[in-house]
Amino acid sequence: MADLSTPIEYLKGVGPKKGDLLKTELGIFTLGDLLFHFPFRHEDRSAFQKISELNEEVQSVLLKGKIRSVEYIETGKSRRFMARFNDGTGEIDLVWFRSLKYIKETVLPGTEFVIMGRPNVFKGRISIPHPEMDLVGTKPDSAFLGFFPVYRSTEKLKTFGLDSRGMARLVNTILSTVPERFQETLPDYILSHFKLPDRDSAVRQAHHPRNPDDLKKAMFRLKFEELFYVRLKLLLQKGVNKNKYRGNVFGTIGEQFNTFYHHHLPFQLTGAQKRVLKEIRADLALGRHMNRLLQGDVGSGKTVVALMTMLMALDNGFQSCLMAPTEILATQHYRSIKELLDPMGLPVALLTGSVKKKDRKHIHEMLQSGELPIICGTHALLEDEVKWKNLGLSVIDEQHRFGVAQRAKLWKKNAIPPHILVMTATPIPRTLAMTLYGDLDVSVIDELPPGRKPVQTRHVYENRRDEIFRFMHEQISLGRQVYVVYPLIEESEKSDYRHLEEGYEQICRAFPQYKVSMVHGRLKADLKEHEMQRFVSGETKIMVATTVIEVGVNVPNASVMLIESAQRFGLSQLHQLRGRVGRGADQSYCILMTDYKLSEETKIRLETMCRTQDGFEISEVDLQLRGPGDLEGTRQSGVMDLKVADLAKDQPILAAASQVAEKVLLSDPNLTAQENILIRRELDEQKKRKTDWSVIS
Ligand code: ADP
Ligand code: MG
Repeated sequence: MADLSTPIEYLKGVGPKKGDLLKTELGIFTLGDLLFHFPFRHEDRSAFQKISELNEEVQSVLLKGKIRSVEYIETGKSRRFMARFNDGTGEIDLVWFRSLKYIKETVLPGTEFVIMGRPNVFKGRISIPHPEMDLVGTKPDSAFLGFFPVYRSTEKLKTFGLDSRGMARLVNTILSTVPERFQETLPDYILSHFKLPDRDSAVRQAHHPRNPDDLKKAMFRLKFEELFYVRLKLLLQKGVNKNKYRGNVFGTIGEQFNTFYHHHLPFQLTGAQKRVLKEIRADLALGRHMNRLLQGDVGSGKTVVALMTMLMALDNGFQSCLMAPTEILATQHYRSIKELLDPMGLPVALLTGSVKKKDRKHIHEMLQSGELPIICGTHALLEDEVKWKNLGLSVIDEQHRFGVAQRAKLWKKNAIPPHILVMTATPIPRTLAMTLYGDLDVSVIDELPPGRKPVQTRHVYENRRDEIFRFMHEQISLGRQVYVVYPLIEESEKSDYRHLEEGYEQICRAFPQYKVSMVHGRLKADLKEHEMQRFVSGETKIMVATTVIEVGVNVPNASVMLIESAQRFGLSQLHQLRGRVGRGADQSYCILMTDYKLSEETKIRLETMCRTQDGFEISEVDLQLRGPGDLEGTRQSGVMDLKVADLAKDQPILAAASQVAEKVLLSDPNLTAQENILIRRELDEQKKRKTDWSVIS
């Protein structure tokens, strides 16, 4: 007999073909998995509407009435079937274009139906194309009345009949034929404290609730459980990491740090920078391994914090590296760090893929001998030939571009792993960061250096291009520089490059008196570098680029950021791009150019950009729009495989679940108490199901 662990293909109505699709499309492998594919909403079909009260605003209706007459219409190639449907208050048309044979046989004059659909109004006449229909009286316990589950499906699944209704049928088959119940995973004391339904009832109620209140309780229970275990695992891991991984002790604040701080720092640190440095310093002195996320909006001054952390390492006899995702970024870091360290006579090197073999060998030697205390670079730092005398600290910029495996590689380079400081300018809402990076401590630079003028941001349509170009002319004649950015969805897409190249030609024609740089991902590293350099030095006035300039590039003289086809960029990308200007003392501008066809979501994105420059606020909006699964920086972390909870909407449940998880561990750190036996068992089960992700989140 089938049970919850029975493979999905054995379910009546599935078979190998649909079974494979359910696996690849939705990750459903067993009958139990399918029951955990919950409806994303329920339609309240407990009350019928009246035809006399329908209007154009109504999205979806439920009606009960009789077929008065039918008509089959064939004109040329087009064929359709129409029925007049009357509910006693009025009449509408039902229309079909497909499955005509079947419809002709079932939709007969005089029969009574319950129908559901989306009404169209044309010239005052209401019609419903392809309504969902049930014969009245044939299904007394049909889920049609009351709360009807609506399931997520995919295009592929739909072509195999597994649309929402198809999914509902499968779920119902399991619910009515599989006797096995879901085992409880939460102890009694938690259930009774929150008045949660037991697990099996919650699953059933989630599909077929008796009323809205039951549905709410069921979903709360399922989300709570999911988030509780996510938090519990992270907390356990954090505890384990703290005990397990010893870190190098950076006990002293010494000569180099102090010399830099007192004599070479070109500005006053902001309060936030100071606070973060203190947090880092406290970590490093403890002898436990530091794994810290440094969040700070673009321009908040993360680099100098990284540098000063590297000086702490140096003062304690350790080497440091700063690793960036692109050559351009690594080079920029190298330059700004070199500029700051040169007066102190400290050597710094740059290691990237394009460093010549001879130089590379020399750098390798100096790293191995320990002559080189600080180095910047790209993935090249991870190569096997790179051996350190004593790497004590790795700073990683823009962590979302590095995979987990790559970071694990860095980790393996020493017996005692180097401290890790991950810098990111993609601010993640704090509560979310806590969930995502359970074993990562988080520091936030939430203050910009003084004197920055907010970037003025405007959304304009293509038809104002001339005006915008005139404005750019004006700015350049004042001595400023301009970025023009084109979207590039796939670095390999030819058509995207065509846009970029056409754009480049257009700019060259409109600005004949100025030199123009162009940078994109396909350019060879040395050419890219050369072009960047021409812009940095001010030789070229305009930089036409793709998002390769998104992160980190620092040209304080640039005052205009024109983003072409801005509708094609995500919010965090737009924010990053805007961060390239407003770095100097002058007023800067960001222009978001689009065509007229904009979705509601795009309008919200553009409006948000014009309204605020606060990265945290922007990331909150992004989170609401896209859900956390798509947020940059969250994709790689296994925590995001949430099935039920939605971190954007379920923050209160997360808070409750976190609190309980902490309490449980506080009173029973090893989960050995009798009352927590269900928790222990569920953790073991989860471990069996899935090998956990790496120690470095
Ligand atoms: P990000 O956090 O985006 O990496 P950077 O570290 O590149 O920011 O800093 C942006 C600019 O601000 C740099 O030119 C840097 O020299 C400058 N800066 C950093 N901290 C301060 C400060 N406390 N006061 C003034 N300028 C600062
Ligand atoms: Mg930076």
